[in-house]
Amino acid sequence: MLLRCRGPDGTFRVTVEPTTTFGQLIKDLLPQLPSTVDPRTITVANSPNKATAKPIRDVSHVKIGVVGLKHGDLVFVDYQHGNATNGTADGQSTTTAARLNGNPVLPAEDGPVDTKSERISRPWEVVRQSALDDRLDRQDGKIPRARGRMCRHGPKGMCDYCQPLDPFDPKYLEEKKIKYTSFHAHLRKVNAATNKPELGASYIPPLVEPYYRVMRDCPSGHPPWPEGICSKCQPSAITLQPQPFRMVDHVEFSSPSIVDDFIDAWRKTGAQRLGYLYGRYTEYTEVPLGVKAVVEAIYEPPQVDELDGITQNPWDNQKDVDAVAKLCGLEPVGVIWTDLLDAGHGDGSVVCKRHADSYFLSSLEICYSSRLQAQYPKPSKWSDTGKFSSNFVTCVISGDEEGQIGIAAYQMSNEAVEMVRADIVEPSADPNVMLVRDEEEDDGSVSRTRYIPEVFYRKVNEYGANVQENAKPSFPVEYLFVTLTHGFPEQPNPVFTQPGFPIENREYIGEAQEPSAAAKALKLKGGQKPDERGHDMSNFHLLCFILQMGILSKDEAALLCRVATQHDLADTFQLRATEGWQNLQAILQTTGERIPKRRRELYEELPSLSQSTTTSTSTNLPVRDSGEPLAKRFAAFRLNERRTLGESSRGASEETGELG
Ligand SMILES: [Zn+2]
Ligand SMILES: [Zn+2]
Repeated sequence: MLLRCRGPDGTFRVTVEPTTTFGQLIKDLLPQLPSTVDPRTITVANSPNKATAKPIRDVSHVKIGVVGLKHGDLVFVDYQHGNATNGTADGQSTTTAARLNGNPVLPAEDGPVDTKSERISRPWEVVRQSALDDRLDRQDGKIPRARGRMCRHGPKGMCDYCQPLDPFDPKYLEEKKIKYTSFHAHLRKVNAATNKPELGASYIPPLVEPYYRVMRDCPSGHPPWPEGICSKCQPSAITLQPQPFRMVDHVEFSSPSIVDDFIDAWRKTGAQRLGYLYGRYTEYTEVPLGVKAVVEAIYEPPQVDELDGITQNPWDNQKDVDAVAKLCGLEPVGVIWTDLLDAGHGDGSVVCKRHADSYFLSSLEICYSSRLQAQYPKPSKWSDTGKFSSNFVTCVISGDEEGQIGIAAYQMSNEAVEMVRADIVEPSADPNVMLVRDEEEDDGSVSRTRYIPEVFYRKVNEYGANVQENAKPSFPVEYLFVTLTHGFPEQPNPVFTQPGFPIENREYIGEAQEPSAAAKALKLKGGQKPDERGHDMSNFHLLCFILQMGILSKDEAALLCRVATQHDLADTFQLRATEGWQNLQAILQTTGERIPKRRRELYEELPSLSQSTTTSTSTNLPVRDSGEPLAKRFAAFRLNERRTLGESSRGASEETGELG
């Protein structure tokens, strides 16, 4: 049969069989194309819409017949010219020669973050994804429409004007001011473009993650990179595009006090703070097939905070904290940090540092969050590797344009995460700019750990034309992340109902998690009556503190977490009767005499750290020269803040972090 390949240089005919692969098709097409075409940049698509185009390396093994192409059909081909792009990508021969140049190159120790990306056959049969994803997979996601003015049929009929819309319908999303397609809607869209069940072809996993590293185990049989490389195993050129979908649509803080308590660290020191968000993912019905992250607690890992940034220290008990969260039905869902500076007006207002004319997320932060997302991959039945992107979110607390404290939520794009994994980019001193790394190491030798492909991005130039730019040596960061909405529920119903227990790793501001504080929270002193539904225990920081004392057995720990999150009368009664709980009570009641060993070790490590941080920050408090007592100013500030949080709880608008 005959296929027509339409590209920038015209339409060409190629004779193929249904069993011909796309790789062979392109090989046959190449002689007809201008000699300057860089074969690595070729993409194929079944429509002129560039969003559906697939790099040839991803589909080269796919047979023409499988995707349902018939005699006379059009295939849309696109590519870049080697010589036109910076004069460096003169086919792959130059690159290969440069890498081989006679010297055997040894693999270095510090390889990329993750070199594995193995394809799984029939992932939909073997991959276990989250219950939420299974639930959303079962929904058809169509948006029903009422019979309209244009309908000429009876109440039971249906026509073009009233048939349900797809969950990715661009007009619908625009009307609802939804800036991105949800992940599950995106999945429907790609699936519809990839698989046509009516043709009876075998199913192809519709999701493919970008892969910018040299493929291992190249079938051509040459020595592994960096000693050898060929067109089959080298990554093709990258053309950055704004990501049209987001994995999570909305971040919901289950109560304003969670954020308020977190910001308190800044209020008391003027230094920034970082925390991990613990919560769960669930349906978000404001967006078709949407997902929201519901945050129930912010855990503050060991860190050194300064006025202008944060240094994370090793977080030894991260696994323990994750385990406590799991017992509570929660998981790590993201990261949050502050970037706050008092405006010095004495009214609690803060400086608006992040806006359209400065930046929203710096290149350094993008690299940081990309690494975190890479650590939390999302299992998916519909990806050829069984994994796709990540549900991990990033929140930044900073001053908004009204000088109030505001939250902005983001996710890094799949391209950003893969560029970081592949070690292609590095942050720049200019927050708005990401650098493409050099192929050379500092000593001028060719890098043995990273292969830097061509990188391009598209932008609308001063004449309004959509043009392609070379991203070397640097490019704007706006391609690398998407924005999420955020808010608070109208009727907060948080999992943890008992605020007030000191937050971990805050000894530097004089807030220590001591047994006496636990005794107080659990009402073990002064003849108080503990809550019969265990609300006293309903605090994530308290649970982590109790469980790392190591007094409760595994079953008792699980029971405690159940009581703390579900408040069942019988469970609470049962917990209080356990041996472990009674031991715990006894220890906490004699506090001061019997501080558990592990805690004592922790305190011994602290003095040097807490001293240095408190001195450096207290001398630099942004409010220090106002002459007003600090306590009063912070109190005023908190009132103002409460109002801000309350207001944003009602409007979960898409306006936050507008990026145009
Ligand atoms: Zn109709
Ligand atoms: Zn190869």
